[in-house]
Order: sequence, then structure tokens, then C-alpha cells
Amino acid sequence: MSRYDSRSGDPTSYGDRRGDSGFGGSMGFSGSVRSSLSRNNYEGAESPRKLDLDGLTPFEKNFYVESSSVTAMSDREVDEYRQRREITIEGRDIPKPVTSFRDVGFPDYVMLEITRAGFVEPTAIQAQGWPMALKGRDLIGIAETGSGKTLAYLLPAIVHVNAQPILAPGDGPIVLVLAPTRELAVQIQNEATKFGASSKIKNTCIYGGVPKGPQVRDLQKGVEIVIATPGRLMDMLESHHTNLRRVTYLVLDEADRMLDMGFEPQIRKLVSQIRPDRQTLYWSATLPKEVEQLARQFLYNPYKVIIGSPDLKANHAIRQHVDIVSEHQKYNKLVKLLEDIMDGSRILIFMDTKKGCDQITRQLRMDGWPALSIHGDKSQAERDWSSQSLKLARVL
Ligand code: ADP
Ligand code: MG
Repeated sequence: MSRYDSRSGDPTSYGDRRGDSGFGGSMGFSGSVRSSLSRNNYEGAESPRKLDLDGLTPFEKNFYVESSSVTAMSDREVDEYRQRREITIEGRDIPKPVTSFRDVGFPDYVMLEITRAGFVEPTAIQAQGWPMALKGRDLIGIAETGSGKTLAYLLPAIVHVNAQPILAPGDGPIVLVLAPTRELAVQIQNEATKFGASSKIKNTCIYGGVPKGPQVRDLQKGVEIVIATPGRLMDMLESHHTNLRRVTYLVLDEADRMLDMGFEPQIRKLVSQIRPDRQTLYWSATLPKEVEQLARQFLYNPYKVIIGSPDLKANHAIRQHVDIVSEHQKYNKLVKLLEDIMDGSRILIFMDTKKGCDQITRQLRMDGWPALSIHGDKSQAERDWSSQSLKLARVL
């Protein structure tokens, strides 16, 4: 058990919700940010608790200094830039985006790697995400796959690590990145190695399905950045090969997938072992409502940045007609539609329920339509038969 667990007597207390007051004054929050912390920031969550930071050494997490050219941007220029790059933002005291790498104020060793990689300008998520992350605030970042989210959190992580006291023997990581799969964890590690190398930051990757020995040895040597899948990391913690007491920068990458894959209980357990005044960054390609509510339980007064449309996009190549009809008119309407459009091509009909699916199929077949159905209660053989028939457009 970590000292955080034993202090609260409730293993999930810190992770679930952080309080609305008591944030240490030396932690880089400006007065206006602190005074804006209110219960409104906690929609959809349990009642906020007071932070218990007794005995925790304060740490620095605000490293952002706005460059003069960013300061010089007018509100209109900022709006235009955000519009052009499809950046939507939410939150209080949102910093202006940076339009070039130079403006971020990354240290030379990071700039060197950026030049070496041949990057020309920040991607949209980086342009807005870097100043947000460097301010030490929590963040929800949503942008499609391939948009550069990894460096959006890794470069500020490197700055964060370099400002912390060096690891003492027995210390766990300072930065923890949670990812859903081994493949993704390894990709993240490659970027961390590339961009962290010149500042001598060590990292390791912790994932299941391989022997623990080498991973345990890395952890025991002491690494500043750990990239892990939740299951194997829990394992390592339970067998005391590492601990999360030094973690002050937590990243949940592809968080939607982690939640989809059922990692929520492990994430809760892991987060409960991390100090409550940590910085938490949540990244994903999509943000369904239910997932956002869950995500906000791990975050404190977060910024939100979305690249592209915040809504699901409709495919413009598909014409959509919406007919609103009452329940008893539906079947006749359907048959009428089928008569109008049926030219031997294949037609897909989606139903609300499995029962409805079976009913309509039966009724259509009785009326002479070559219908077949597919749903979760059908055997695999039946499902294969239906989808095969549809693919081959076989008349049955
Ligand atoms: P995501 O996590 O959003 O799916 P990645 O972080 O994996 O995307 O980035 C995709 C690729 O883009 C990587 O190869 C990365 O090195 C590269 N990349 C990141 N930032 C930039 C940039 N500013 N300019 C050009 N390429 C970049
Ligand atoms: Mg990614």
C-alpha cells in the first residue's frame, strides 16, 4: 500500500476527485486560476473533496513563459489561427496557441531534436496543447490518429522531468504514460527515447505477455519516464518493483480505447496511488459523452482542446433522408420504400432491438422479400451465413 492509500483509508479517494481548494500556492497557478476554481468544474462527478497535501513536497509544474511574438498576437489573429487549424477550446485562462516551435520556449536540447526530425511547424494539437500542458494544467486533448499527440505530451513531459529533483534510490518514475496496448507503448517509448536522449532522461516500457525480469531490472535502476499498459503495471506495483509516489505528470493515451478495453478499474487503482496535485493529461481520438464524464473524474479543472469537428462528421457522399413516422406506420412505410428503391441491389435495415430484427425479417419474408437478419443472439454459423449471403447478394 502506498502512503497515499494509508493516509486516506480509502484507496480510491485521491484518484476519483480532487478538491476545490487547498491547491498549494507555490505550484504555479496564477491567482485568477485559483480563484476561478468552483464547483462548476465538477459536473457529473461526486462531491468534491478538500485536497490533503500534508506531507507532500511541493513541486513545480508551470513552466510556460509566453514569447513576445505570441503576446503580440491580437485576439483576432488568435481566432483566425484557431479557425484555420480547426482548433476548438474550452476552459478558463486558455493560453494563446504557438504558431512556431521557436515560440514554445522549449530548451535547446528539445529544439535540437525537433530540427533533427525535420519538422516544419507544430501540428494543430501541439500548437494549442503545448502552452496548455506547459502551464501545468490538466488537459483533455482530442485529435485524430496521426496528428502528433505523442509529442504534444512528451515534450512538456521532458521539460517537467528536468525541473524535478533527481531520482533517489528506490524512487519510481516522475512521468507515467498509460497506454492500451504493447504496440502503442513501444511506439511512445521510441519517441521518448529519441527526444529525451540528449537530456539523459531514462525511460522504460512495461507491458504484459513477456518475461518480467528485464522490466523489473529497468525499474530498479530508476527511470524518469515509465510507459505502461495498466495490467502489467498493477502487477509490478503489487510486487513492489516500483511505486508511483514520485509521479507528478500522468498521461492517459488513447484513453477511449483503454476504457473500451475494460481497463477502468485498473486505471482507478493506479490513479489512486498518485499524488492528487499531479498534472493529468488525457488524450484520445474521440470523446463520447460517457467517456468524458469518466475522464473528468481523473482531471482537475481541465482545459479541453479538440482538433477538427467536435461532432461526428457525416459523409457528404451519402444523401440522408429523415422521415418521422409513428410506430404503426413504420412497416408500411418500409415496404413502400423497398418497393420504390429495390432494383436488385442490397439494402441494409438497422433495428433497435434483436426482437424487432427477427419480427421484421419474418414479416418481410412472409411478404415475399428475400430478407435475412443478423444480431448478437444468432449463432456464429447463422451470422456467417447472413453476412456471406449479403456479400454475394444471393437471393434466398
Ligand atoms: P497520434 O498519437 O496523434 O496518432 P503520433 O504522435 O503518433 O500521432 O504522430 C504521428 C507522426 O507524426 C509521428 O511519426 C511523429 O513523429 C510525427 N510528428 C509529430 N509532430 C510532428 C510535427 N510537428 N511535424 C511533423 N511530423 C510530426
Ligand atoms: Mg497516439
